[in-house]
Amino acid sequence: MANNPPYKKKGTTTKLNKTTDQRNSAMERIVSMARSDNDSRAAGYREKSLRIHPHVCAKCGREFSQDNLTELTVHHKDHNHDNNPEDGSNWENLCIYCHDNEHSRYTEFLASERQTLEKEEEPEAATHNPFADLGKLLNK
Ligand SMILES: [Zn+2]
Ligand SMILES: [Zn+2]
Repeated sequence: MANNPPYKKKGTTTKLNKTTDQRNSAMERIVSMARSDNDSRAAGYREKSLRIHPHVCAKCGREFSQDNLTELTVHHKDHNHDNNPEDGSNWENLCIYCHDNEHSRYTEFLASERQTLEKEEEPEAATHNPFADLGKLLNK
């Protein structure tokens, strides 16, 4: 007791206050967590989406509780992270696996799009000019 600073005496003597103290510290933790989320604007949309949409993966239907909610991520349907409409229409709650899958599919899609564009552009460029000239000749 002699080592304890005077202000600690209050907590040890009044036992009734201890539960409220614990509750208050838990509240403080939640509040500070919410504050840190607000600080980083980027994380804001996840909170909002989790509030709007059910805690279920939109792809595989896996359900989430408070315990594993960190594994439920928010996906941008148009893959544009700057597009965050308040109604949540661009957000989709996805589990980390389906989210990963969605992104690798999108990257593959982009890659194949690029490939087909490159493939098509070359022969077109080669055949277009003669055809255009032919058209001009026929119209004359
Ligand atoms: Zn999933
Ligand atoms: Zn995503």
